[in-house]
Amino acid sequence: MPRTARALVIRRLGEPFKLETIHLDDIRDDEALVEIFASGICRTDLHCAAGHRPVSVPAVFGHEGAGTVLEVGKSITAVKPKDKVLLSYSTCGSCDQCTSGHRAYCSKILPLNFGGKRSDGSSALSLPDGPLFSNFFGQSSFSNFAVVNKASLVKVPNDTPLDLFASLGCGLQTGTGAIFNTLNVQAENTVAVFGVGSLGLSAIMACKIRQAKEIIAIDIHPSRLELAKELGATAMVNSSEGDVMEKIKTICGTTGLNKALDCSGVPEIIETMVDSLGTRGRACSVGSNRPGTRVSIDVHKLFVMGKEYVGCHQGESDPHEMAPFLIDQYRRGRFPVEKITTCYRVDDYERAFEDIESGKTVKGVLLW
Ligand SMILES: [Zn+2]
Ligand SMILES: [Zn+2]
Repeated sequence: MPRTARALVIRRLGEPFKLETIHLDDIRDDEALVEIFASGICRTDLHCAAGHRPVSVPAVFGHEGAGTVLEVGKSITAVKPKDKVLLSYSTCGSCDQCTSGHRAYCSKILPLNFGGKRSDGSSALSLPDGPLFSNFFGQSSFSNFAVVNKASLVKVPNDTPLDLFASLGCGLQTGTGAIFNTLNVQAENTVAVFGVGSLGLSAIMACKIRQAKEIIAIDIHPSRLELAKELGATAMVNSSEGDVMEKIKTICGTTGLNKALDCSGVPEIIETMVDSLGTRGRACSVGSNRPGTRVSIDVHKLFVMGKEYVGCHQGESDPHEMAPFLIDQYRRGRFPVEKITTCYRVDDYERAFEDIESGKTVKGVLLW
């Protein structure tokens, strides 16, 4: 087994990623060693590296890994060496939420995904001068080899395009799961998606799979709105031009807006979203807000119109169910994830991060 790996390390919060050689600990009974082929880059990695989340350094982030199992610990039976896997968030598997089918709300979700170490306090990764913040989402997969917790392993067919599906474990299942699970969009629904980056565009594709009557994409970037149209949006609203609520009203007519999703995390946008809902409409936020973010909602309207505003983590998705479903949809040409994905050789990682920050790239994926 390899004892070292090449990984993108953050030495100080707010400083850029640097490719460095790190040391890998032996795997434990509940871990697998995975050779990473592709790593999706998610906003959460960037927020953590910038110090906007409670993490410590030096650190290896990365939580959308995809690769091949090299070795498994004694308690792992679901995968074996040579299996292809996608890596997703980690859960305890035994709390009330995990055992009742709501693993995205595992009571240990924060320590297991943002704790930076194994549950026994050890770190799976280190530098010559000490331990690294590791086990990020049970994987820390910005690395060519990763020590992965059992709960984060999702076996997929060997011919799965790992570059396109690396992001399943966070971004893709969050955007699509919000539509399928939390909002449960149906064919007769009018739906609005606020912010069409990778989460929002995944949500648009999911709305199209559900054949929603009206799919409204809202953003300030014309190129993103064009892409949303290509992926299934039936109406595009540029929120930098005119009154968004009025435009939604015109599109939806008397039935009003039934379902809405916010991917921006911006309080003013969330307020517009909730105000735009029609009677018994349901709106959802998928995160990306900083902890402590507050919004102002007209509770009287919520009450008399029976509106709902809810949050959802990871699209309330079980990656073991979402992965085969989306891979099948992709094969049928109904989930064209290649249209939102740009792959970079890992040596070009600086360009990848720049392109994501500037908005040039929707979903960046590093190839190891
Ligand atoms: Zn749990
Ligand atoms: Zn993520």
